Amino acid sequence: MDRKKIWLSSPHMGGEEQKFVKEAFDSNWVAPLGPNVDEFENEMSRYLNIKSAAALSSGTAAIHLALIMNGIKAGDDVICQSFTFSGSANPIAYQQARAVFIDSEEESWNMDPVLLEKAIKDRKKQTGKYPGAVIAVHLYGQSAKIDEIKAVCEKYKIPLIEDAAEALGASFGNRKLGTFGDIGILSFNGNKILTTSGGGMLVSDNDEFVRKARFLSTQARDNAPHYEHTQIGYNYRMSNVLAGIGRGQLKVLDKRVERKREIFDRYKKGLGRLKGISFQPELKGSYGNRWLTAAVLEPGAREEVRLELLKYNIESRPLWKPMHLQPVFKDCVRYVSGVSERLFKDGLCLPSDTKMTNGEQDEIIGIIKKMIRG
Ligand SMILES: *Cc1c(COP(=O)(O)O)cnc(C)c1O
Repeated sequence: MDRKKIWLSSPHMGGEEQKFVKEAFDSNWVAPLGPNVDEFENEMSRYLNIKSAAALSSGTAAIHLALIMNGIKAGDDVICQSFTFSGSANPIAYQQARAVFIDSEEESWNMDPVLLEKAIKDRKKQTGKYPGAVIAVHLYGQSAKIDEIKAVCEKYKIPLIEDAAEALGASFGNRKLGTFGDIGILSFNGNKILTTSGGGMLVSDNDEFVRKARFLSTQARDNAPHYEHTQIGYNYRMSNVLAGIGRGQLKVLDKRVERKREIFDRYKKGLGRLKGISFQPELKGSYGNRWLTAAVLEPGAREEVRLELLKYNIESRPLWKPMHLQPVFKDCVRYVSGVSERLFKDGLCLPSDTKMTNGEQDEIIGIIKKMIRG
């Protein structure tokens, strides 16, 4: 076949990335830290309209530090959305804390605030303590019911860690996602909407969290001429070279969001009238980034469609397998309603690459149309 592979979502450079990377080389700031890191943090803070940000080696590292800064230790309960990528939940295990998984609601496919409150009360009854933190996710760039989730967390004085790894550029009301929690986290992994090839960020209106994140992510060096350590540190900082890529990428972020939303609209227009497919809803008042167009197909059709697309060298992917179904988390407490299991069973992420042409997308729409109920 002549056509190149169509990816789910691949890096899409804007043009200025190499300029910033070259600056790092020309000034020999080929180091962790340096002017690109400082500027990337400043530019992202301005973009999100949040006080400050710490650039890190990954989104997973950002969640890990967020747990540490909230004092999570062995045996503590940490509540986490079940319907997510494992990067949201793994840091709970790094701390030897206990993950408590919460199912999704139907309106955004994210954490159900009613189940969240039920779980908090029940854990208090079971353990005598409230959970130490809540990790809520905006899956595929769609806003969770973040006001409700935040209200529940505030009611029980539990810190909210907002996993906006997939949701950069999206908003709820007039606020960007990632700025609602006590701490927000971002990912710049290879297929995210903004990539530094690998990286992440911790953002907060609380300067103290960000200062602490910078400290812990650079091996927790105390203020002394020799290397003095009173705390265990981590090597989690972003390099100045990669921050250069991020600065270039940030300049085209809004353009990418627009294009992702256009891709979604074209799928909806081409397939939305068919009985055999439905799409991830967008919560009223929110503006998703449609990082991946996520759909649910008629029962049994998911693998057939995925394999048929693969024959044409087109990548698609099942929706995330809920964490409470993962072998590594099989013993964890869960509060489930069946929503995420149902979505996982028949759900497929359609190719959402911003470099895909309209012609290529029409080809995909044509293939799917032939395979599902009209
Ligand atoms: C990608 C992702 C992460 C982890 O980010 P990395 O930079 O890959 O470590 C966490 N949560 C969600 C929902 C993600 O999609």
